[in-house]
Amino acid sequence: MFVARTIGALQAALAPARSAGRTVGFCPTMGALHDGHLSLVRRSRAGNDVTVASVFVNPRQFGPTEDLDRYPRTEARDLEVLDGAGCDVVFVPTAAELYPDGFATTVTVEGPSEHLCGARRPGHFAGVATVVLKLFVLVRPTRAYFGMKDAQQYFVIDRMVRDLCLPVELVPCQTVREADGLAMSSRNGNLTADHRRQAPAIARGLQSAREAFAAGERAADTLVGAVTGALADCPGAEVDYVQVVSVPAMRPVAVAGDRALLACAVRFGAVRLIDNVMLEREEAACS
Ligand code: AMP
Repeated sequence: MFVARTIGALQAALAPARSAGRTVGFCPTMGALHDGHLSLVRRSRAGNDVTVASVFVNPRQFGPTEDLDRYPRTEARDLEVLDGAGCDVVFVPTAAELYPDGFATTVTVEGPSEHLCGARRPGHFAGVATVVLKLFVLVRPTRAYFGMKDAQQYFVIDRMVRDLCLPVELVPCQTVREADGLAMSSRNGNLTADHRRQAPAIARGLQSAREAFAAGERAADTLVGAVTGALADCPGAEVDYVQVVSVPAMRPVAVAGDRALLACAVRFGAVRLIDNVMLEREEAACS
């Protein structure tokens, strides 16, 4: 695996693949890698000639009071597991490499950025869209892999790709979970042991909402209630939001249609976790 720390090194590493017309799969990450990230790498390997990952904790997507300083950084281990998963090239830039002095461009994707995390984290999705667009320009991937654990992020990037006619195919990938249902996240390691025991209630609540939806329930309040109900037994949980939104617009709805997203953000102490479940009538479900 080639480790590129500069834009120049990345271009040099990708030049042979480009001139040979090889397909390139790309998995952008913020590191502290777990099996959820590696599932993207494996999927990319299966569908492309060359797989590129990036590891970059993007300061522009963190608000001034958020956990940028506490975000886990495990670069040596990340490089090892990427190599083990068969990644060909990893881009590990510094902030100065991606945002040199005078950098003045921000990409704002309206619409799907407005609610859920967009409402709670002003500027977050502009930071995400800006770095992802820049990474797309640098890597020029054939396909890019995103986890549905961050479903709103996927729909924001999807909107940007459509609006700007970016020549990349987005591939949504299923959320990978721990055995007890908790969605894998780099932030899980920052949970206290007590909060780690409570946190799977999020997934249990989402699962019971999904079962209610499958049984015909469409009222957003009731679906949301399945999640808040599951969290009621968790003294450490502080709900940031639980909401049903339309897909792909990410607009809050009172009644779930045949395809909607139930998404939540829950704080356990200083750690904010997000998770979601797609609510789809079976015939409307895509593979
Ligand atoms: P992050 O490092 O958190 O920015 O995530 C990088 C990519 O990995 C994003 O596309 C995430 O949606 C994806 N990802 C993170 N956690 C998971 C998970 N548990 N399952 C699947 N994909 C994930």
